[in-house]
Amino acid sequence: MTKSPTIVKFGGTSVGDAEAIRRAASIVVHQANDRPIVVVSALSHVTDALVRSAKLAVEGEPERAITALEEQFERHRNLARNLLGVNSQKFSDEVDRIGSEAARLIRMSASEPDRRSPIEDELLSYGERLSAQLFTAVLRTMDSPARLIDARKCMVTDEEHGRASPLLGETERRTRQELQPLLESSEIPVLGGFIGSTLKGVTTTLGRGGSDYTASLIGALLSAREIQIWTDVPGILTADPRLVPSARSISRLSYAEAAELAYFGAKVLHPKSVQPAVERSIPIRICDSRTPEQPGTVVWNHLEKASSAVKAIACKRGITTLRISSAGMLGAYGFLKALFEVFDRHRVVVDVVATSEVSVSLTIDDPTALPALLPDLESLGAVEVEHGRAIVCVVGEGLQHTPGVASRVFGAIRDINVFLISQGASSINLTFIVDEAHAGEVVSRLHEAVFGE
Ligand code: ADP
Ligand code: ASP
Ligand code: MG
Repeated sequence: MTKSPTIVKFGGTSVGDAEAIRRAASIVVHQANDRPIVVVSALSHVTDALVRSAKLAVEGEPERAITALEEQFERHRNLARNLLGVNSQKFSDEVDRIGSEAARLIRMSASEPDRRSPIEDELLSYGERLSAQLFTAVLRTMDSPARLIDARKCMVTDEEHGRASPLLGETERRTRQELQPLLESSEIPVLGGFIGSTLKGVTTTLGRGGSDYTASLIGALLSAREIQIWTDVPGILTADPRLVPSARSISRLSYAEAAELAYFGAKVLHPKSVQPAVERSIPIRICDSRTPEQPGTVVWNHLEKASSAVKAIACKRGITTLRISSAGMLGAYGFLKALFEVFDRHRVVVDVVATSEVSVSLTIDDPTALPALLPDLESLGAVEVEHGRAIVCVVGEGLQHTPGVASRVFGAIRDINVFLISQGASSINLTFIVDEAHAGEVVSRLHEAVFGE
């Protein structure tokens, strides 16, 4: 039997410049005996630039959209010259080809709004397609037997452009078909994350940050030994380091803790990337590619007694709260069913819910469906909508049996208005809603109250 592979995924900053790419490539080379499968994101800022150009096209400015991308294409060519030297021509030709193709798509998107979603996904896919090609070429200059694989041949998805979901059976079949022979011949497959294609072969994307999901799904499908997520922080930290500069790395987290943190704003891991690993009990290791000798964070299902009840605090902004009040709810059954059927029909995801005798409060993070949703909700009761809120989520397995956490948490923010509280739903988190403007202050005060810094 062949040895289990190791998934080695690099985020945008880990392949952001020549030095970072060399470092990432040597991380792969060092693990050559562990059957690495490499998954790369687009170079840092490239997907943002592609998204901005897609938006400019929609706004009727295709020529500006095309010019704006030139800087990113030039960056790829310069990197290739730096990293590949005389061997850079083939890659530069590919950048030229993709540049012309991108310009054609942008003009098409501006003039054919009906075909926009697949066109935008095709455009967004160029980031990962280019980074995977460049990374493969760099590995080959280091005498590594790297082989570029078009990720769209493995990741088969539904047709939900911009947030496609993989079709698991077909993805498993094709991933095995594409990658197994390479592993058996000791080659190193390199794939772009984030991208897939429909059964008809139309390019799709998995949603922002989706390369983690690609890595974890491929890892699960091939029963990997470990899924490594190489990023720009030394693991999952006790809070977002942009909000709490003193946040520190956590050595171990359970899958449930990591999933809650990822879902409620810890961007370091895509929320969907935990589930595939859980099912096959594969450890996910999150490490800093600038300090590869550090152990980072391991997410797994083993539990050990934590020194503190709380492991970390996450925060997600841009939240909308809805309160639906109806006297008819008093003592009646069927109300909640009717209410959630409305969300189901409009395909709106609800994050946090709290109910009283006559009202239900809940949060959504994507308000785009509100205009269509509201009339249906109003048929059930009076609806109040508030935008500009944030979810704060305090997470730790120890919350299940440690008294006094809520009083410590709310004591630390007693002068700040809290709108909705949910504790006990998953037993490992305490979640509440505050005004977005207070979110940073709340997280840093809680961090100090809980971790003493
Ligand atoms: P990559 O490009 O490697 O995928 P991301 O930008 O998606 O990296 O995720 C890493 C970033 O996540 C960090 O730079 C950090 O700002 C942010 N982040 C938010 N919450 C946390 C947390 N609890 N622990 C670590 N990083 C976090
Ligand atoms: N490049 C994509 C993004 O920026 C996917 C990823 O980085 O995970 O969202
Ligand atoms: Mg990411």
